[in-house]
Amino acid sequence: MSRRHRRQDMSSYAEFYRQSIDQPDVFWAGQAQLIDWHKPFDRVCNDDKPPFVHWFEGGLTNLCHNAVDRHLQDRADQAALICVSSETRQEKTYTFRQLLAEVQRMAASLQALGVQKGDRVLIYMPMMAEAAFAMLACARIGAIHCVVFGGFASGSLASRIDDAAPKVIVSADAGSRGGKVVAYKPLLDEAIRLSSHQPDAVLLADRQLAPMALVAGRDHLWAKLREKHFDAQVPCEWLDSTAISYTIYTSGTTGKPKGVQRDTGGYAVALAASMKHIFDGRAGETFFSTSDIGWVVGHSYIVYGPLIAGMATILYEGLPTQGMDGQPDGAIWWSLVEKYKVTGMFSAPTAVRVLKKQDPALLKKYDLSSLRALFLAGEPLDEPTARWISEGLNVPIIDNYWQTESGWPILAIANGIEKKPGRFGSPGVPMYGYKVKLLHESTGEELTRPGEKGVVVLEGPTPPGFMQTVWQDDARFVNTYWKTLPGKTVYSTFDWGIRDKDGYYFILGRTDDVINVAGHRLGTREIEESISGHAQVAEVAVVGVADALKGQVAMAFVVPKDSGVLHDNAASLKLEGEIMKRVDSDLGAVARPARVRFVTALPKTRSGKLLRRAIQAVCEGRDAGDLTTMDDPAALQQIRDQVAAA
Ligand code: AMP
Repeated sequence: MSRRHRRQDMSSYAEFYRQSIDQPDVFWAGQAQLIDWHKPFDRVCNDDKPPFVHWFEGGLTNLCHNAVDRHLQDRADQAALICVSSETRQEKTYTFRQLLAEVQRMAASLQALGVQKGDRVLIYMPMMAEAAFAMLACARIGAIHCVVFGGFASGSLASRIDDAAPKVIVSADAGSRGGKVVAYKPLLDEAIRLSSHQPDAVLLADRQLAPMALVAGRDHLWAKLREKHFDAQVPCEWLDSTAISYTIYTSGTTGKPKGVQRDTGGYAVALAASMKHIFDGRAGETFFSTSDIGWVVGHSYIVYGPLIAGMATILYEGLPTQGMDGQPDGAIWWSLVEKYKVTGMFSAPTAVRVLKKQDPALLKKYDLSSLRALFLAGEPLDEPTARWISEGLNVPIIDNYWQTESGWPILAIANGIEKKPGRFGSPGVPMYGYKVKLLHESTGEELTRPGEKGVVVLEGPTPPGFMQTVWQDDARFVNTYWKTLPGKTVYSTFDWGIRDKDGYYFILGRTDDVINVAGHRLGTREIEESISGHAQVAEVAVVGVADALKGQVAMAFVVPKDSGVLHDNAASLKLEGEIMKRVDSDLGAVARPARVRFVTALPKTRSGKLLRRAIQAVCEGRDAGDLTTMDDPAALQQIRDQVAAA
């Protein structure tokens, strides 16, 4: 092959992808050079016991070293963490040097509270600098962090405390949303009261937003410990590449959330590679991801990914429509793009739909010339929204599809390798390392013809960065994800998809009972469990219904114990309010159903299985599908009547 020819091949995504699949060891050994290793690995990929995969065995590394320490040589005084809060109206930049100092203070504080390598530290915090310090500090000392989304309430938090069994919990007095203070400490205290596991200590950042009652002997103030450990030097713990870096909880078909477990070396390599090839991020630039540290996007593309790439990252607390003076401002994000010369921005379609309701002139108010691309993920990106933002910003809009489980995009366009046009409605093509297939739901047969609808699955071995297992439950990992299609051991994404003739995928929604509200993944079973805890509820079904703004909203159908409620408007409103309040306090407002409707029976199959898909279809005005196995047609009719009356 001539040199010229080879150079052309290197810049083709098809060739890049092919190498990742045909020669994974060569490919990933190359990508692994993007991070620092304290000791080189002996083996690139060990998948001797599928579906478990060990990446870069024998290698020693550290996520915090790669995100922070190694940049001190070239960019110690450049911005690393830019914290902006339109809620507290504060803005503060930490350079890499300052970030390292804060992380060491946090690491020393955690160690003083007894945290050692392998211990879990649960982080329940709003979008504030200390949340990032805590994550990086855990990574530094080899503790496993479990960040729980700050929007979750006591019940959700308690079940995660019990599952993770943290030695220490890091939290704060309060967060704030749209100018309204949300006190975290009482929610945390209640969660600890509800859980059987008790942490040894709680470390609290006091933002002076809400009063905090401290539990003597258990609760410690960050300000005090920070002062005590102000000059702390805490070296990075060199960890096996396969050591657990964190767990993050996600919803599935059962009420019990799953702890998605991630490794260290594979994750660091996956993030470094994706920052380069997919997000086209370059050291010294600024990345702005509008997600929350409680979600996987926050882990990968607010905290670790940009920092590993040597970029500054913006941690933003607040609404997309609120200015730094607390007044409405639909251009706050664009003002940050101008001010910090953001080159890559990452958000969710719901946020863009919110912005779309603002004056379009706001998109022209600031100089956005630094921006090279906007990445959107978390839920389907509808064409009108994609077109609106693409025309407004005049940069490529890169829809990317992935999951908490994968840690980084499964489908996208890798513009860092080869500039390729996207296709409206499609999150793109399989990313390097992912063997994406479409399988027939009931036969497991591979679907290869364009336009055929199947379950999106991945063939093993899964690439670096992908979940290792379910925390402390290998059997659940195998049975939940790898054994759902007949005759095949493949990873199911639980999403429907189709592929066009050019290999672009289109995602058509979930195959399971998971719903997606404003990019937040919620299990309908969790919401049902909360609602059925109400003394007056006999039975409940929760379904996700299409919503123009949020993508989906939860709708609850309840059979009350006293059917009189159905004929008494005041009583049904009262019960609806109580049910909503219950969900708020068990799970958090994110999980609150948009409406609760009362019926005398729920549609079920003859074997007693709830016909959620039929209920959902009726709510969305679609055909309810095959109802031959339905036990009681009148039950579905009641739902039809309720929807028609609304
Ligand atoms: P989460 O684990 O919370 O990130 O949710 C993952 C789920 O969100 C996926 O399984 C999809 O159902 C959905 N999702 C994520 N990204 C996209 C996308 N770009 N297009 C369509 N659906 C998406």
